[in-house]
Amino acid sequence: MIDKIICEKCGAEMLPIDPNKPVGMTCPNCGWGWATTYIDPEQEDDTVYVVSLSEGNIATRAAIKAVSKITSKNFIQAKRIIENSPVDIYTGNAVEVKDVLQLLESLSLAYGVTPEFPYSQNQEGTDTENIRRDDSDN
Ligand SMILES: [Zn+2]
Repeated sequence: MIDKIICEKCGAEMLPIDPNKPVGMTCPNCGWGWATTYIDPEQEDDTVYVVSLSEGNIATRAAIKAVSKITSKNFIQAKRIIENSPVDIYTGNAVEVKDVLQLLESLSLAYGVTPEFPYSQNQEGTDTENIRRDDSDN
């Protein structure tokens, strides 16, 4: 149970700004409130991740453009990276790597991350999958 937070200006019950994240509270009556700094776990993660492009990706125009953007190399060099994969293409912290992985995934490019990247790329994970176990009829 979370204690009710009462607005110190008008006495109304405060509501969270975002019910899903502890980002702060606001008063629906007078608008007083505050924002807290919500820190995503990946923002506190100081691990350095290395992203490598897996072999077998097709050097499409979109793929070359993405790799060019990630590696800050020109199109010819980016095409060569894809063709010579596996190649390490990016080193960075969790927040930076997440953006890179999102870009790679949006193009369905195969990649690897070292160490294993613990953060989910999309919010629609597989945890909503309905798994029925029929081990009752024995
Ligand atoms: Zn108020």
